Amino acid sequence: MKHLMKIQLNEFQLERLLSDEEKRTYRFIMETNVFCTSCEDTCPEGADAESVWLNRFNDIHTEGRCRFCGKRVARIIEFGGHDSYYSRVEEFSKP
Ligand SMILES: [Zn+2]
Repeated sequence: MKHLMKIQLNEFQLERLLSDEEKRTYRFIMETNVFCTSCEDTCPEGADAESVWLNRFNDIHTEGRCRFCGKRVARIIEFGGHDSYYSRVEEFSKP
């Protein structure tokens, strides 16, 4: 299943889409594993997501800011490979 366009998710929708384990992964990546081109390293103090999208490959795409320098950062987080995730995505993207 693929969407033609990416779908923006609000906090409530993200909360509903991700399992507890996926939420932990998501937070961990935002804290430790977002690259900042200004810091030339992963964001030293993590990153804050300003917008979150479900892209057409069903990955979570976040755009936000580096907490250390304030520069814009983006990260794609893949949660594929779990049937339960895909069924939640499917449920979610029904018109
Ligand atoms: Zn930075």
